[in-house]
Amino acid sequence: MKIVVIRVVFVLFLLVLAACRAELHKETRLSMSTVLTVIVSSGKAPAWDDLFAFVDTQAAGYDHRLESSPLWTLNRQGEAFFPEPLRSLVETALEVAEQSSGAFDPTILPLTNLWSFDSGGTLPDEERVRTARKRVDYRVMQLGTDGRATLPEGFGLDLGGIAKGAVADHLADYLEARGFENYLIDAGGDILVSGQKFGEQPWVIAIRHPRSEQLLAVVKLGALGQRTAIVTSGDYERYFDRDGRRYHHILDPRTGFPAAGAVSVTVISDSGARADALATAAFVLGDLALLEAQANTEALLIREGPGGLQAVRTSGFPLSLDQLNLTVP
Ligand code: ADP
Ligand code: MG
Repeated sequence: MKIVVIRVVFVLFLLVLAACRAELHKETRLSMSTVLTVIVSSGKAPAWDDLFAFVDTQAAGYDHRLESSPLWTLNRQGEAFFPEPLRSLVETALEVAEQSSGAFDPTILPLTNLWSFDSGGTLPDEERVRTARKRVDYRVMQLGTDGRATLPEGFGLDLGGIAKGAVADHLADYLEARGFENYLIDAGGDILVSGQKFGEQPWVIAIRHPRSEQLLAVVKLGALGQRTAIVTSGDYERYFDRDGRRYHHILDPRTGFPAAGAVSVTVISDSGARADALATAAFVLGDLALLEAQANTEALLIREGPGGLQAVRTSGFPLSLDQLNLTVP
C-alpha cells in the first residue's frame, strides 16, 4: 500500500514538473503592416487573440493614416491632445531628432506623402520635393507636459520611423505583466528579446544580409530580467525601382530624397523605440559617431564601397567585423 502511494505521488510530481517545464509557444500574424512573430518560452501560451488585439490598438494610436489617431487631428487642425504613451513617444522622437540634428525627423510627413511608399511609391518631381522639404522641421513642433501638441499649417507628424519599436516595448510590458519573462518579439526586423530560450540557452538572432538571401551574421542575446532590442533599418525593406535606380523609404530630410549613406543599420539598445529611431538616424547620417556617444547603445552599419560592402561598428557591438558575411554573390 505504502509503495503504491509513493508511486502515485511520484507520478503526480512528474506530471506537475512536465506542466511547469518551459516550452516554446510561437504565433505569427500580420500586424503593423508587417509580419509580427511572438515566441514565449513558458509553461503556458499567452492568449494570442488578446495579445494581437493589444498590438493593433497600440499601433493604431501611432498611425497618422487613421482618423481615430490624435496624429490625424494634429496634422489637420494644427493642434491635438496627445495622451500617454503617445506623448512620451513623441518626446523621445524629438530627442533623437535633436541629437541627430534632424537626420531623424518625425515631421517627415510632407515628404513621405510625396513619395507614397505605402501605395507602391511615386517618383516626385524635384520642385515638389523642394517645397515639401521646407515643411519638415521638428523644431516647429510644440509638445507640452500636459499633452498639448501643436504644429504649424502644412507640417505633419509621421511616427513610422519609431512606432514599431515602441509597440515592441509596449508588448514586452504586456507580456511581463502576465508573468512571461522569456520571450522574443519580431516585428519585421524590429526585434526585442528578454530572458532566455530554454534554460541557459540565449535567443539566436539572424541579421539579414542587405544584398542577398544569405545571413549577414547571427548574434546571441538575452539575459533574465533584461530587455534587449535589436532593430535593423535597411534600404531593401520598402522600395521601388525606376529607370534602373532604387528608391527606398528612408528619406534624408536635407535632400528630400532616399538617404544614400548606408544600406543597412542594426542598433542594439534597451529600448525598442530608441533603437528604431536611432537606426533610422544613423542610416541617414551614414556613420556611427552619434551612436558611439550614446549610453547602452551599440550599432553596425553596412554601406556600399568601391570594392563591395563595407561594415563599421561601435566598439561594444557583440560581433567583430570578421564574423560578418559581407560577400555579395
Ligand atoms: P522600417 O519601418 O522598415 O523598420 P524604419 O524604422 O527606418 O524602417 O522607418 C521608415 C519609416 O520612417 C518610413 O516609412 C517613414 O514613415 C519614416 N521615415 C523615413 N525617413 C525618416 C527620417 N529621416 N526621419 C524620421 N522618420 C523617417
Ligand atoms: Mg527606424
